[in-house]
Amino acid sequence: MYVKLTLIIHFRPMPFIENSVSNKRNGWIEVIAGSMFSGKTEELIRRLKRAKYARLRVEIFKPQIDTRYSEEKVVSHDANSIISTPVTSSGNILLLAQDVDVVGIDEAQFFDMGLPRVCTQLADMGVRVIVAGLDMDFRGKPFGPMPNLMAIAEYVTKVHAICVRCGELAHFSHRTADTDKLVVLGETDIYEPLCRHCYNEALSKSKT
Ligand code: ZN
Repeated sequence: MYVKLTLIIHFRPMPFIENSVSNKRNGWIEVIAGSMFSGKTEELIRRLKRAKYARLRVEIFKPQIDTRYSEEKVVSHDANSIISTPVTSSGNILLLAQDVDVVGIDEAQFFDMGLPRVCTQLADMGVRVIVAGLDMDFRGKPFGPMPNLMAIAEYVTKVHAICVRCGELAHFSHRTADTDKLVVLGETDIYEPLCRHCYNEALSKSKT
C-alpha cells in the first residue's frame, strides 16, 4: 500500500516585529516596498498609529505629486487614513521634521534622489524613519530613490498584492492603459497586480 505524502509549503511573509517602539535614543530606517494594491500604505499607517499610541511625536510626509484623494491625508485604498503634509522636495522634510520621534514617508518613489540622504540624516539624529513606496514602475524597473532606500535601511519589508489573473502572489504593477509616461496616477482602471508568469504573458501579448 502506498501512502502518498504531499508537502504543501505556504509562503508566509514574516510579520514585522518592531524592535523597540519607544526607543528614543536610536534612529533607524524601515522601508515598506511593494507593487500597487499590496497594502504598503496600510502597513505604514499601522506602524504610525502604533507609534502614536506610544505617545511618540509623529510627522507624515508625501510628495506633492500624489493628489489622488486628498491634499492633506495619506489615504490607503481601504480609506484608513492619517493626516500628512505634502512636500515638493525631500529637503523640505528635514526642515519640517523638527522635534519628532517618528517620520513616515508615503509614495517615496515619487521623491527626488536626495531622499536617502535625508532619511539617513534623520535616522542619525535619532528619528525612526518609516518609508513606503513602489519598488518597481510599470515596466518592472526599480523606481526612483526606492532601491537606494532599500539598500541603506535597517529593515525592509516586501509586501505583495494578489495576481488578478491567477491568484498567486503579485509583485508587478501592470499598466493596462496604453501610454509610455512613467507617472500616470490611477487605480484599478489603469493598473493591475500580476505575478511574474502573468506579467510576462501580458507583455508578450501586448507586443504581438
Ligand atoms: Zn498570475
